[in-house]
Amino acid sequence: MNPHLSDSPTKRDHQQSPQFIPASPTTRLQAENLTKTFILHTQGSMELPVLEAVSLAVDVGECVALSGPSGSGKSTFMRSLYANYRIDSGAIWVKHQDHWVDLSALEPHELLSVRKHTLGYVSQFLRVIPRVPAIEVAAEPLEELGVDAETASEKIKHLFQRLNLLERLWYLSPTTFSGGEKQRVNIARAFAVDYPIMLLDEPTSALDATNREVVMQLIEERKAQGCAMVGIFHDDEVRQRVCDRHLSFTGCLKS
Ligand code: ADP
Ligand code: MG
Repeated sequence: MNPHLSDSPTKRDHQQSPQFIPASPTTRLQAENLTKTFILHTQGSMELPVLEAVSLAVDVGECVALSGPSGSGKSTFMRSLYANYRIDSGAIWVKHQDHWVDLSALEPHELLSVRKHTLGYVSQFLRVIPRVPAIEVAAEPLEELGVDAETASEKIKHLFQRLNLLERLWYLSPTTFSGGEKQRVNIARAFAVDYPIMLLDEPTSALDATNREVVMQLIEERKAQGCAMVGIFHDDEVRQRVCDRHLSFTGCLKS
């Protein structure tokens, strides 16, 4: 190596990652080359490659649909974006409070902070805690952000009303709720917080046409406020109306 060439280490900036360049100034979430293989330990350690170098950049106010046949890796990708699944390689860059962070490299407490303030997730199923009433289940993320109990409860009541959740259910535990009722509690819980980025895994799968319409309106309002969204929608009507483009999963990477 020529010693006269500048090879001296530069001071690394630990707040902004020097190696990361967002696709555009309005990018909020950027997944780079996500790769994941499941190892089926109960089946002779068989390897199941599900994601191979999948990349996606999502802008402010945009909703990207994950599309493709069942089993093609949509949910695996979405869970990886939320760092529920550990990826084998790649990076998940999220703009969190004016800084770019890679979710795949964060300490657990930092990940919790990103999920609390920046990254909302509507899972397909509500995790029900026995004896906790629906209104409290839905208000929990707001209260964790320091919103006072009364303001939080008013916000949830307003969302429950919009989602046509019968008032007599508000103070009951969702344990005995129908699938569609649980789904609406889950939606109110996520949409009560103004997350800059949201991940939606089939948020309307158990809803009737009236409530599907309400959820489409909630998504459109959030996009208009600048929220960057990624969604899995099995319903073509919903996908066509709220999504700006889609990322196709073909599945069967190696068979
Ligand atoms: P989609 O959401 O597109 O229907 P998934 O991401 O759920 O697809 O699944 C993709 C593939 O990965 C499927 O073959 C599925 O069986 C497999 N898979 C998903 N989750 C796991 C897991 N936790 N362990 C092992 N295999 C899994
Ligand atoms: Mg799925």
